[in-house]
Amino acid sequence: MTVAHSESWQPEVVVIGSGIGGLATAARLARHGVRVLVLEQHTVPGGSASYFTRAGYRFDVGASLLYGLGTEGTINFVAEALAEVGETVETRRDDVQIHYHLPDGMEIRTHYDREHFLDELTSYFPRERAGIRAFYDAAMEAYRVMARVPLIALDDVPGLIRGVATSPWDALRMSQAALTTLGDLARRYLRDVRLRRFIDIETFCWALTGAGATPLVNAALVFGDRHVNGVRYPLGGCSVIAEKLVAGIERHGGRIRYGSRVAAGLVRQGRVQGVRLATGEDITARAVVSNATVWDTYGRLFREHPLASVMFREQSLRYAQADSFTSLFGGIASSHLPPETVVHHIVVNDWEAYDKPRGMLFVSLPSLHDASLAPPGYHNVHAFMVDRYDDWSVLTQLAAGGGGVRRTPAYRAAKEAAARHMLHMLERVIPNASEVVQVVSVGTPLTNERYLARTRGTYGPLLRRGPDVLLKPQGGSPIRGLYCAGDSCFPGQGVPSVAASGLSCAGRILRAW
Ligand SMILES: Cc1cc2nc3c(=O)[nH]c(=O)nc-3n(C[C@H](O)[C@H](O)[C@H](O)COP(=O)(O)OP(=O)(O)OC[C@H]3O[C@@H](n4cnc5c(N)ncnc54)[C@H](O)[C@@H]3O)c2cc1C
Repeated sequence: MTVAHSESWQPEVVVIGSGIGGLATAARLARHGVRVLVLEQHTVPGGSASYFTRAGYRFDVGASLLYGLGTEGTINFVAEALAEVGETVETRRDDVQIHYHLPDGMEIRTHYDREHFLDELTSYFPRERAGIRAFYDAAMEAYRVMARVPLIALDDVPGLIRGVATSPWDALRMSQAALTTLGDLARRYLRDVRLRRFIDIETFCWALTGAGATPLVNAALVFGDRHVNGVRYPLGGCSVIAEKLVAGIERHGGRIRYGSRVAAGLVRQGRVQGVRLATGEDITARAVVSNATVWDTYGRLFREHPLASVMFREQSLRYAQADSFTSLFGGIASSHLPPETVVHHIVVNDWEAYDKPRGMLFVSLPSLHDASLAPPGYHNVHAFMVDRYDDWSVLTQLAAGGGGVRRTPAYRAAKEAAARHMLHMLERVIPNASEVVQVVSVGTPLTNERYLARTRGTYGPLLRRGPDVLLKPQGGSPIRGLYCAGDSCFPGQGVPSVAASGLSCAGRILRAW
């Protein structure tokens, strides 16, 4: 072990991980003059919102469908994090949030123009006209309230008191929206089982749970903002957000080190005092922020602390660990894309399978917004599906000499089978996809585990009951000196949500100091 940081510059706060949650924390801290060091195990920033290049394409590894980059209201958390360090990104707004390709030949597009969307949905369910309007009006109303209220961490008691005193009616309606699930709302207004299933699908594609477990307050952002600020794509790719945050953090005196895997926290007298890298280098700091998942934070990095096992158990009981994903990254000649193809699609071919592994295909074609992401005359295609880690880990074996795990021929065959399955589903979006899409790469749950450093490549903790969202960690931890940001914290998964968690985590640190 070496004791490092021989340079005179010493960080006050170390952030483990450069996901958007970690970077948003670092951005706000750096702006307030805190010396912050971000340690990232990968070679690029952004985690699930980073990128890789291959065969002339630039691919988003995960996120492509983004909220939080607009200007209206108080919930543009990604733009807010960028603004902390004086950065912006140029975006293109989607005219259609998602084109849903559903069973029974249903093709529904959630248009930016709300009336256009409501008309299209109603054309499939004419008898539900009034219920559809009432359901989406209630979601829009919850969104409008949210968009008026500034982000306040639930554990910022003085902030909460000020918020309630300034606008008691909005505060009451926000708390109602946190306690009501989207499923409650659907049962109140909608009768048709296929229509209610559509609401489940609309929810599952970002929450990975059905409407019954999803609080209205979370859904309101998606169901409301898609018609106000809209879904926006950053020119240059989603990873531009992380790259700009890094540039801004560095300009404000912060630092980032890549290829720096944190192996454990340094805990002395019950208090976190820094981190130890996998290389054995120790870095001390007054506070540490973990941007890793709750299972990695408490099950690995800080497991020596007696409170870690308590947190691990409590969080694992309260929230389910989501499955991971298998992704297909490919390319297609522009001439093979049907005219009017939009950027984001969801394919479900069986009403009962939407929430099963491989039952829903998520598709994005971001080069429709930015041609520079693909070779001239081509488009990049990212298709992915929820998939089980265990189905892949059994296809590996220990390498000779104990040098890690080795993919077996069966693993490679399984990748080919997974690609065929995705291409088959992709035919709903791109006719003859199996023939015309060139597969560039296939990533499995094991790939996610490795590059994103997330236990079992998980998407994160899932709500079992809607109101549990209020019990998610708020940026703090019971371990002194340890804070957290990212999708294991309130409010949950998604780039704008983790940006919000990072901003609020930084606020918490600044308030404590
Ligand atoms: C396939 C996929 C598609 C998605 N699509 C969308 C979408 O369209 N829109 C949307 O809003 N959201 C989407 N999401 C969700 C969104 O990307 C995530 O919720 C969000 O980016 C998670 O951010 P985070 O800050 O929690 O951490 P992560 O992105 O997980 O980043 C954590 C970082 O910490 C690093 N790290 C972890 N442990 C260590 C360690 N010990 N030492 C050093 N570094 C470490 C990791 O390498 C990583 O860079 C998608 C996610 C996936 C996987």
